[in-house]
Amino acid sequence: MDVTVASTTCWEPPTAAYVHVPFCRHRCGYCNFSVVAGRDDLAEAFLRSLQWELSQLGEARDIETLFIGGGTPTHLPPEWLERMLTLVGQWLRLPQDGEFSVEANPRDIDRERLDVLRAHGVNRISLGVQSFDQRKLQVLQRDHDEAVARDAVTLAAEAIGNVSIDLIFAAPEETPIGWQQDLDIACGLPITHLSTYALTYEKGTQFWTRRFKSDLRSADEATELEMYHRARRTAAAAGLPQYEISSFASRPNRCKHNIHYWLGRGWYGFGPGAAGFVDGRRRTNHRSPTTYIRRSLAGRSPVQEEDAITRQQWAFERAAFGVRMMDGVDLAAIARDTGVAIATVRKQEIEDCRRWGLVELRQDRLILTEKGIAMADTVSAALL
Ligand code: SF4
Repeated sequence: MDVTVASTTCWEPPTAAYVHVPFCRHRCGYCNFSVVAGRDDLAEAFLRSLQWELSQLGEARDIETLFIGGGTPTHLPPEWLERMLTLVGQWLRLPQDGEFSVEANPRDIDRERLDVLRAHGVNRISLGVQSFDQRKLQVLQRDHDEAVARDAVTLAAEAIGNVSIDLIFAAPEETPIGWQQDLDIACGLPITHLSTYALTYEKGTQFWTRRFKSDLRSADEATELEMYHRARRTAAAAGLPQYEISSFASRPNRCKHNIHYWLGRGWYGFGPGAAGFVDGRRRTNHRSPTTYIRRSLAGRSPVQEEDAITRQQWAFERAAFGVRMMDGVDLAAIARDTGVAIATVRKQEIEDCRRWGLVELRQDRLILTEKGIAMADTVSAALL
């Protein structure tokens, strides 16, 4: 059976970029990111490494979305933040209406840093609040309290206008009522976007070891599901409708950078552990910040892994990630761009998901049902 259609496009130049800043005050027990804690002495070397990596572009690139994440970019003191943003701006150019997001921790938010961010065109702040509850924050090993988080949201909203916050649910011993309080506080603040994630226990983290030793007890599936649906209901009632499995915002405030990923478009990645997708190749830098710095300063590529992505892989990934958006995934667009007809290649899997009541096919869009929203991982795995 012929499962391909004519492909009309080649790999388009990336129009998004991610820059990873690895510094944090301390490492939270559940964190599996590329992070260094208590090594602010590496900041100068990091900036020189980043400069070298950016210079490998050869010339400045025009992009539409830029996301500086970490780690904690705002852990850098204002003058270092200024240097980094100047450097990034020399190589990655955003148009006037481009989306420029920076991740921040509530404790780092002050007027000086916000002024620096705004002066460099940052128009979206993503705050790692995680919770407003003191006990839960302690369990998560976060270093702010409710008052600091509230003040940070208010200050950031005044200075930047567009504020997203992240909240974690299903923390050890957390109850649905406790989670509801977090949601109610969040939705009463001047936020434009909410992201919620169930706590995960990644191998190699302190939390994974503690759970293994029964020192931490994870939430059961039913509790986690109840919390998830509370987030969906509460956010929608507050004018933040769900637009992706973990993301809630009105249409104009959806995160364009993340949508870019979910649509499977190319992006540049810079910094330790950062992945990029350029010219059909997926490259991931060394996760160790010190290795990243050492290699870059020696003029050697910091890339640790590099794979050529076939058009079929690209099509499967686009379907698997795209279906997580509430608008569904456009299978005709995937066929047009990749030459791979998902509806044919994954006919049996799609049919199984339909029979289980997890997806609907409306014209060429594959869309999660209400039941499927809670089982999105199953649907994604079937499509991948
Ligand atoms: S602040 Fe964020 S990036 Fe830093 S250690 Fe904690 S979870 Fe990880």
